[in-house]
Amino acid sequence: MSFKDKTALVTGASRGIGFAVAKKLASLGANIAIVDYCSEEAGVVSAAAIAEEFGVKTAFFRCDVSDFNASKETVDKIIDEFGGIYILVNNAGIVKDKLVLKMAESDFDDVINVNLKGVFNMIKHTYPHFAKKRAGRIVNVSSIVGLTGNAGQVNYSASKAGVIGITKSTAKELASRGVTVNAVAPGYIVTDMTKSLGDSAKEQFEKAIPMKKGGTPEDVANVISFLCSDDASYVTGEVIRVDGGLAM
Ligand code: NAP
Repeated sequence: MSFKDKTALVTGASRGIGFAVAKKLASLGANIAIVDYCSEEAGVVSAAAIAEEFGVKTAFFRCDVSDFNASKETVDKIIDEFGGIYILVNNAGIVKDKLVLKMAESDFDDVINVNLKGVFNMIKHTYPHFAKKRAGRIVNVSSIVGLTGNAGQVNYSASKAGVIGITKSTAKELASRGVTVNAVAPGYIVTDMTKSLGDSAKEQFEKAIPMKKGGTPEDVANVISFLCSDDASYVTGEVIRVDGGLAM
């Protein structure tokens, strides 16, 4: 498996699952464009760490993926600076968990705008490039709660179910152009996003997971890298759970 001379755009890649994805793809030779809304300093540090470890070209682009125009400017800049994009991983995401009764309208809108519209924005602006090149891989990061629902996550689960809809529809649109579009649905993965859960919630998760442990960002990155590889060239519109069996 090699991504030598190919460019991967990974959103939300300054830390967590996105950073692990960027590292995995770089370890296989890909040049990496990190798109994240973190501070300039944090983004540059993440990009430099990957370049130093794997000897590939990397760059950081500060962008809020929920901003339609900023996303277009960022995609255009990356195509210009890297000479194209072969892999797009839509990973950026946020949570604002509350029961519906307590959920503010802004909690709903913010999560939908980043997790769902952000995926639309990045696909919309890379689409003409992919269609013209007639080659590419898009992987969207959904969640098992997009499949199962979850109390306290109406906004998040709706966004992640929507990501599966975008994945399947875009897969149908781009299949004849040699571009595959798939999704991964992680379960409980140990990152900053889940670190804020209390000890009892963690224990409950670990009890419920058939494999009896949370996943690592690398567990998710390995599956994404497979979906981006030539080995997965006949796989499109698929959703792969990476959850130790939790949503089985
Ligand atoms: P994380 O550690 O919180 O990292 C999320 C990344 O997304 C951060 O780098 C964050 O940037 C970036 N981001 C947030 N809003 C953004 C925006 N508007 N524009 C650009 N970048 C933005 O989360 P994670 O656990 O790695 O999650 C990564 C993805 O996996 C998310 O889509 C999440 O929903 C999904 N997922 C995670 C789990 C899990 O158990 N961890 C399970 C299922 C699905 P900042 O540094 O600026 O915040």
